[in-house]
Amino acid sequence: MSGCRCGSGAGMPRWKTKREALPSLNYTRHGFRLKDGRLHLAGGIVLTVAWSRDLPAEPSSVRVYRDSLGHWYASFVVPAQCEPLPGTGRVIGVDWGVKETATTTSDAHDLPHAEHGKRAAAKLARYDRMMARRKPEKGQPGSKGYREAKKLRAKLHKKVARQREDTGRKWAKSVARDHDAFAVEDFRPKFLAKTTMARKAADAAIGATKRALIEMGRKHGRDIRLVHPAYTTMDCARCDARAKHVLPLGGRTYTCTACGTVCPRDKNSAHVMLVRAGLTPAGADGARPPGAPLQEAA
Ligand SMILES: [Zn+2]
Repeated sequence: MSGCRCGSGAGMPRWKTKREALPSLNYTRHGFRLKDGRLHLAGGIVLTVAWSRDLPAEPSSVRVYRDSLGHWYASFVVPAQCEPLPGTGRVIGVDWGVKETATTTSDAHDLPHAEHGKRAAAKLARYDRMMARRKPEKGQPGSKGYREAKKLRAKLHKKVARQREDTGRKWAKSVARDHDAFAVEDFRPKFLAKTTMARKAADAAIGATKRALIEMGRKHGRDIRLVHPAYTTMDCARCDARAKHVLPLGGRTYTCTACGTVCPRDKNSAHVMLVRAGLTPAGADGARPPGAPLQEAA
């Protein structure tokens, strides 16, 4: 029987079974119907929905899914609603960072890192230890204690994500209310993600905040311009010269060897965003003369 390859020999690949994967179902226009606040799905399934908010328009599809905590959700897709805000005559440049989630060309709109993840880190470490102690043998189902620790960990993760979203949305709202156009660093988290806990938390905060800003800008009909991050810490916002060498990351001050400008590094980067996006002539303070058109500089 040496040729037999079935059974659970060592080295056999293990697949994530359907039972282990989180369930998710999609229904398009003809697959669901809403009636008296209840959701009717194809196949005669009727669900009572606890609405988190009213639907702003007729939904075109719905996704029904279960999260890691075992809660079921129905997520509806509705056409985006535009609610234009009055013009302000102001533009803003946004640079993302670790200590300050957002440094902007407007001091009133800088966003310090909220450290939601930092506060949760000690608890997360505790749940990790609880899980490690109760870790099931390979192929065995997890014990009750293991599953409980896992659930607590997932719950905390979710709480932190929700806090980040909330902070990001509030900030984005004030940015959108006070500015007609945003020049936003097109930050890609992968550059920082593989380092410390603090960096990971900063990455997650930036991701959530950037998403909120783009969403809020679109909703209120603002002009959003994403700027490629290359060289934004090296260029001078005032004279457009590029530093001859890369600035050490620890240096918080930008000094231009060409025109002599000295300013906080992140503030310079935020101004560079505006220049790159064509929203201001080099050296302006972020305000446009009244009536000046919002157009790309040549
Ligand atoms: Zn300069």
